[in-house]
Amino acid sequence: MAKYVFVTGGVVSGLGKGITASSIALLLKSRGYKVFMQKFDPYINVDPGTMNPIQHGEVFVTYDGCETDLDLGHYERYIDEELNYTSNITSGKIYKSVIDKERHGDYLGATVQMVPHITNEIKNKVYEASNSSGADIVITEIGGTVGDIESNTFLEALRQIQYEQGSSNTFFIHCTLIPYIFGSNELKTKPTQNSVRDLRNLGIRPDALVCRTPFETNDHIKDKLSMFCSVPKENVIDSVDVNNVYEIPLKYYDQKIDEIILKQFGLEVKPAKLDYWKKLVKTVDNLKDSIEIALVGKYVELHDAYLSVAESLRHAGYKYNVKIDINWVDSEQLEKEKDLDKVFKNTKGILVPGGFGSRGIEGKIMAINYARCHDIPFLGICLGMQLAVIEFARNVCGIDDVSSTEFDPTCKNPIIDLMADQKSIVNMGGTLRLGNYECTLKKDTLAYNDYKVDKILERHRHRYEFNNKYKSILEEKGMVFSGINEKANLVEIIELPNLKHFIASQFHPEFKSRPTRPHPLFDSFIKASKENK
Ligand code: GLN
Repeated sequence: MAKYVFVTGGVVSGLGKGITASSIALLLKSRGYKVFMQKFDPYINVDPGTMNPIQHGEVFVTYDGCETDLDLGHYERYIDEELNYTSNITSGKIYKSVIDKERHGDYLGATVQMVPHITNEIKNKVYEASNSSGADIVITEIGGTVGDIESNTFLEALRQIQYEQGSSNTFFIHCTLIPYIFGSNELKTKPTQNSVRDLRNLGIRPDALVCRTPFETNDHIKDKLSMFCSVPKENVIDSVDVNNVYEIPLKYYDQKIDEIILKQFGLEVKPAKLDYWKKLVKTVDNLKDSIEIALVGKYVELHDAYLSVAESLRHAGYKYNVKIDINWVDSEQLEKEKDLDKVFKNTKGILVPGGFGSRGIEGKIMAINYARCHDIPFLGICLGMQLAVIEFARNVCGIDDVSSTEFDPTCKNPIIDLMADQKSIVNMGGTLRLGNYECTLKKDTLAYNDYKVDKILERHRHRYEFNNKYKSILEEKGMVFSGINEKANLVEIIELPNLKHFIASQFHPEFKSRPTRPHPLFDSFIKASKENK
């Protein structure tokens, strides 16, 4: 049977709870335990797939096609495990399943209530993750802040788990803030005391506090927190602001949080294997040069909307010992720009990521055209691939009125069109082509050279596809279709071999990149950008 670590948050949001949960999971894994992670999001959307990225950041996609919160990206990157549909549970998912069961008659005449029906459903999701993963330890993060109305049923379910499983099988970590007051020059514990009181009012006693603080706390503060919050002093952990987030697991390791958890669980404290992580921290701290990569998208005002893409660029940068300076280019603004040379003056590589809808499309096409005409290394992802095809068809093949039916349903040449099995779909949520699909690579291409295997599995999130009717015209003019999904005959990768580095994929490589193992497409893109003088 698994042991359970629950991570809650107090005082304010944005304390880095996701990184804390990931860091603790990493430490437990480094001590030889099989870990699995899960996030509860209290909002009513069934998943974040239908939400605007400007509000919620990127939608992370698991291999099994679940559209999830971006924290799952942190989890996968830190613990290097593939998560799945049991890893992201929203209130919407819980309510939907309870209401479906009620309509089906499964409750046999009972009055369906928050407690026990909703809470049982939540508990089942924790146990399901534990059973299906076979993990020794499941780490569950609860989104939002203690005290929010929305998270109360989740916390009630966890209280019940604490009661049912006992303290040798459950461990609650509460993440809080210790603010520093300038003038009196003090760190303050009161917000943490209040937030722990809120948690205890819900029947949950935290086993440890992780205190986000601008400066290290001291004995006096720890004594105070220990006494007021009924938490042993050594279980009060500092989480001091850092420049390099990869340091966080090591900072927690120094304060023995993983040992404390394992001891409470009665599990052996095996030696921690962290050398690979220490090496990563050192690399990140000592990057020699920097290169500018332009990321051209319409959600650039919120960098989190492209979180995994930005992280993947950095991962490849670690390998080539370069810091990546991202030039965040707003594609809509670019449409009004006369002087592209100015925008891309210091740019060594151009990346056009995924996106939906018609806003900013022409700006992205302008950036792709600039990359192609100036032989600047280019990587297109999903919509970025579709637009690279449109740009080439328009400007190299001379096809007129060529577009995607997503933004121009009546265009004469729909080179990007709705997939056949998408035509009858009316519901928007969860109905894209999602998750892992196979792609066969063509020998002697850039793609093959990057991966060095015949077949790959990559994660998808799209509704439109390349229209094979136009394939031969584009091939005649030099475009190579280097990756194909053979089963459905779908184009997965295109490239232009007459240029130094021009490649784009229909899938999303950014979901599989790891800090110590950059994704092959990002790897070669950054290598080419670094070599681009
Ligand atoms: N909007 C495009 C489609 O649905 C591309 C999606 C994406 O970039 N994720 O096919």
